[in-house]
Amino acid sequence: MPGTELFGEEEKKEVMDVLETGVLFRYNHDAQRQGHWKAKAFEAEVAAFTGAKHALAVSSGSTAVSTMLAACGVGYGDHVIVPPFTFVATIEAVLLAGALPVFAEIDETLCLSAAGIRAAITPRTKAVLLVHMCGAAADLDGILAVCKEKDVMLIEDTAQALGATYRGRHLGLFGKMGSFSFDFFKIATCGEGGVVITDDEPLIRTAEYLSDHGHDHVGNNRGMEQHPILGTNYRIGEINAAIGLAQSRKLPLMVAKQRAHKAAIQARLSKVPGLSFRKQCDDAGDSATFFHLLLPTADAALALHKDLAAQGIGTMYWFNNMYHYIKQWDHLKDLRMPYRLVAHELGLPQDLKSLKLPQSDAVMARLVSFNIRVTWTEAELDAFIGKLEAAVTKAMAGVVA
Ligand SMILES: *Cc1c(COP(=O)(O)O)cnc(C)c1O
Repeated sequence: MPGTELFGEEEKKEVMDVLETGVLFRYNHDAQRQGHWKAKAFEAEVAAFTGAKHALAVSSGSTAVSTMLAACGVGYGDHVIVPPFTFVATIEAVLLAGALPVFAEIDETLCLSAAGIRAAITPRTKAVLLVHMCGAAADLDGILAVCKEKDVMLIEDTAQALGATYRGRHLGLFGKMGSFSFDFFKIATCGEGGVVITDDEPLIRTAEYLSDHGHDHVGNNRGMEQHPILGTNYRIGEINAAIGLAQSRKLPLMVAKQRAHKAAIQARLSKVPGLSFRKQCDDAGDSATFFHLLLPTADAALALHKDLAAQGIGTMYWFNNMYHYIKQWDHLKDLRMPYRLVAHELGLPQDLKSLKLPQSDAVMARLVSFNIRVTWTEAELDAFIGKLEAAVTKAMAGVVA
């Protein structure tokens, strides 16, 4: 998590600008704010970094997903294809929109596969909510072809993929809209915040209205603004935006460092016979926030995870130990909510308690991942790779041929 690793004076300076004027609100108060528009500057920074024509900062990655779904017209009873490997926020946003999630298979890209999406399409499928999991691209060629053929919208939950590209184009710009999270655990953080990007002007306007009770933000008198639609309050505050601004400026450095560290790890581990890695659709475009190993068997993966833990090296064995796979989502399977959702009324298209995703399970059971740090010194990285190499070799030796 480079954002937290590289937190410092730059963030403090941006926050102090806001504290000195006391204008914590992102709109209006033009005279008092002494030229400080942190949310606007944060949006401009993310737009420039990603190459998006438009960016809208909101209060979180979760509200960013909700904003995209709403702006794209996803609502009552619409089927939305989602991955079983993601942060549960993706699925919650679909349910809160009044839509119905439909789970499809992932493959060794760790993202939805084109074949998985094709098999999950129903006559009521409105959108594919694609998650570019752990900072690298899904098979966009294949997925865009299926979406086009079936006349289904592509919307990208790029919460984890800031800094990642596919064939030189930033993720989040392949579908109608893309969204980023700046929570404490993402590549860059602003405490809590999110950003929606798109090249589509009407969509970003709708998103803007939705995020602020329908205000059209024309003029400098909030009381006299027009309200083309209803909305809600998903606004970001100026303090969070100030931190996001400082962090966004560090993204090129973060991504460059992560990629260099990933290359060093890859070079050494590629020599271990029989070991595989996450399938990359565009290896050079990986933001390299994570490194992913695919062991030949589930037993070998678990053995590696445990061996490294015993040496004080934390890795993620998502299949059992983490909150990011459907296997762990009992509250979702029971649709546990304090109020009645559209999903309760209409019923989900799939029975989540008996749903089988054998291809996804087969990948997840063999997957061991770890964070790539930006602040590793060369010596630290070398020592880390040495331990990793030994543990991987040992785990591979235990695999019964
Ligand atoms: C983190 C995350 C979110 C939610 O972002 P928050 O800022 O924590 O609300 C949504 N989708 C995915 C894939 C995420 O990883």
